[in-house]
Amino acid sequence: MKFKTKYIAPVGGDGIHTINTGDWRIKKPVLSQEKCVKCGYCLLHCPVNAISKKDGQFTISYSYCKGCGICAHGCPPDAIEMVPEVEK
Ligand code: SF4
Ligand code: SF4
Repeated sequence: MKFKTKYIAPVGGDGIHTINTGDWRIKKPVLSQEKCVKCGYCLLHCPVNAISKKDGQFTISYSYCKGCGICAHGCPPDAIEMVPEVEK
């Protein structure tokens, strides 16, 4: 069986449901590439694995980021700012 989504959870008798954790968010982390010192703290500590590194830059997937703020709280140079989510 092949899944295109990142997170799945079997629920009840009516099949497998996907979990789009981005729907939970009330605040959104915004990462400043100028301030980022590329330490990797955010990537290592994000509980839903929503941060990735590509071509030397760290980026956040807003499909899965649930807005917990762990990345912003621990970022040494304060390169991540939590801003209110606009109405979805
Ligand atoms: S924790 Fe901050 S400085 Fe470190 S990689 Fe993430 S955004 Fe960059
Ligand atoms: S706010 Fe939480 S879920 Fe979103 S990228 Fe940061 S650590 Fe991950």
